[in-house]
Amino acid sequence: KLYNQVQDLKGSIRVYCRVRPFLSERSSYVSTVEHIDGNITISTLSKYGKGCKSFTFNKVFGQSVTQAEVFSDMQPLIRSVLDGYNVCILAYGQTGSGKTYTMVGPKDLTEKNEGVNYRALGDLFVLAERRKDTFRYDVAVQMIEIYNEQVRDLLVIDGSNKRYPSVHLILFLTSSQTGLNVPDASLMPVSSTSDVIDLMNLGQRNRAVGATALNDRSSRSHSCLTVHVQGKDLTSGTILRGCMHLVDLAGSERVNKSEVTGDRLKEAQHINKSLSALGDVIASLAQKNTHVPYRNSKLTQLLQDSLGGQAKTLMFVHISPEPDALAETISTLKFAERVA
Ligand code: ADP
Ligand code: MG
Repeated sequence: KLYNQVQDLKGSIRVYCRVRPFLSERSSYVSTVEHIDGNITISTLSKYGKGCKSFTFNKVFGQSVTQAEVFSDMQPLIRSVLDGYNVCILAYGQTGSGKTYTMVGPKDLTEKNEGVNYRALGDLFVLAERRKDTFRYDVAVQMIEIYNEQVRDLLVIDGSNKRYPSVHLILFLTSSQTGLNVPDASLMPVSSTSDVIDLMNLGQRNRAVGATALNDRSSRSHSCLTVHVQGKDLTSGTILRGCMHLVDLAGSERVNKSEVTGDRLKEAQHINKSLSALGDVIASLAQKNTHVPYRNSKLTQLLQDSLGGQAKTLMFVHISPEPDALAETISTLKFAERVA
């Protein structure tokens, strides 16, 4: 009961923690990550000193939790988009902690291990079909990247400026309620999961452009798949609009200023700035502050309609169980502690 009250006070912000499995066999390690219900306890030995600290989340998903289990937990949230809610799902964590695995899936993608993005879109189509006697839904997607505070449209053809025709743009632009935060980015109507897969593949290909071996751009930029939904009640003619942002954030790891210079340092500073801005916004929403500092970064401006107000926000905080990652794991958990 008390728990529910606390939830209400915080509005609709939930913070989940997901621990990825070990990728290779380890004979010995210096830390252990344990979780019971919503608590996660990190125990450390050796060079980090001996210690034990607990962090609390709305939910913790352990190493053996499957993609299907993660999705089934958030399914009601995703479905509320069809009822006109704005939803924001964010993946936070250091590079290698499993953000892309949660949102998209692994490199060898199969139906079983596909991530939230595919499942969410697939589910929206299933539900829209089920409601087809009472509602008519139009769905359109945008995919953008924010790199060094610059927004880039990922749904362009062959990396050129040639865009897909935005057939439904007018329809959605008339919505002042949901609004298009990036009106310039291609807005693609989709009517099936395979449409979405094609667009996501295009987006991934475009994202890779400009990446070098030394600088995996995908971990240095935020990527956002935005789903716009418009539903028409066939009896009353009422129009409902909802929007969902699915965000794979840039890696949260701190860089050592003495080790990086030039472009790399600039990237790191931009990432740091936008992740702190995100933390500030979520923390001030959680505290019910009257002033929410949305304008401090491109990321928070983009997500503004889906953070706060009637919107529902879910942040996945990812941590790696590897001993080498311990310092970053603790810094990730501290970030989460601020917003949870
Ligand atoms: P990030 O996007 O945070 O940099 P990735 O999603 O690329 O991290 O994950 C790093 C590696 O760990 C990838 O090889 C990925 O497939 C694997 N991985 C991450 N999370 C899981 C998981 N829950 N189960 C199995 N493998 C995972
Ligand atoms: Mg990634």
